[in-house]
Amino acid sequence: MATTRDYYEVLGVGRGAAPEEIKKAYRRLAVQYHPDKNPGNKEAEEKFKTISEAYEVLSDTDKRAKYDRFGAAGVRGAPGFEGFEGFSGSFEDLFGNVFGDIFGMGSATGRRRRGERFRGSDLQYSLTISFEESAFGAQKEFTIPKMEICGECRGSGAKAGTSPKTCPTCRGQGEIYFRQGFFSMSKSCSECRGKGTIIVAFCGPCRGTGNVEVKRTISVGIPPGVKEDQLLRLSREGDPGRGGGSPGDLYIRIHVETHPLFSRDGDDVVCDVPIGFVTAALGGEIDVPMLTGKVKLKIPAGTQSGKIFRLRGKGFPRLDETGKGDQLVRAEIETPSRLTPRQKEILKEFEQEANGKAMPRLTGFMEKLKGIFSD
Ligand SMILES: [Zn+2]
Ligand SMILES: [Zn+2]
Repeated sequence: MATTRDYYEVLGVGRGAAPEEIKKAYRRLAVQYHPDKNPGNKEAEEKFKTISEAYEVLSDTDKRAKYDRFGAAGVRGAPGFEGFEGFSGSFEDLFGNVFGDIFGMGSATGRRRRGERFRGSDLQYSLTISFEESAFGAQKEFTIPKMEICGECRGSGAKAGTSPKTCPTCRGQGEIYFRQGFFSMSKSCSECRGKGTIIVAFCGPCRGTGNVEVKRTISVGIPPGVKEDQLLRLSREGDPGRGGGSPGDLYIRIHVETHPLFSRDGDDVVCDVPIGFVTAALGGEIDVPMLTGKVKLKIPAGTQSGKIFRLRGKGFPRLDETGKGDQLVRAEIETPSRLTPRQKEILKEFEQEANGKAMPRLTGFMEKLKGIFSD
């Protein structure tokens, strides 16, 4: 893969360039740097790869839109993207490709020329894990349907015992050459779809496609600290490539189940704990659940609702970093309801005895109210 630079810059066009302009720019550069014209020149070869890669993306409306939004990662990582794996076609191929539509050829046979490799499609799988698994990691197994190279014909598509025969139309070249003015042109052979061979008898299991759908059990290690919506990439576990191209990747999108007691904020575990108003007023000790086990937490006298207690290092492991987040315990002071007559009596008694010192916020508020409405 050539190093990634800005594709527009590579082709020397503006971001708003029309398709024709991109094609023109590519033609000019491709002719200049084509390996056939620069034999043994490594620099030209690299340059040629880069411009081909840029053109591959910018000439495709869909890929171009993705590139504009997400950059090179957008077109490479996106499911279904057939990565560019080095352009191995000849100078004639190139002309057939870029100018095919101008001269009315090439479009019917597509752009799969002989010798061109296509990377297999990327696959995506959504994996649900528990809240605890997202904290501690896990080894998960799941089964997915995916395409694999047919074992019966080893991908050739030809029935066992037979082999594909040379295409009579193109005599195995995969392309048909002809001259147009000064140029030697080629187009992909429609008989064999550019492969150069024709299958005489199709393989049964894959019906000649060379690929079969299988159920594959995948085992994946979930790293501790993984987050909701995070993508894990399993290299080469996607669909097989074509024409000797490498397989795509399998992306696992993590979905974390909600927990009845905990939620997550960055690397911190958040837990709302109801505290009785008496304990909040007098102070005491409460049991606080943690990801593993529980801990006794001291509640100081006069604790207000919303107060956060921090248990250091009891949160999620930090991904790509050392250390752990904290557990945050948020106090929710519970006001009693459904009181018995006796309880009401006690509280009324408390209120009569209460003075400005017991509830300074309330007292302060009342003072301000008085100040505003006194006249
Ligand atoms: Zn087969
Ligand atoms: Zn052919």
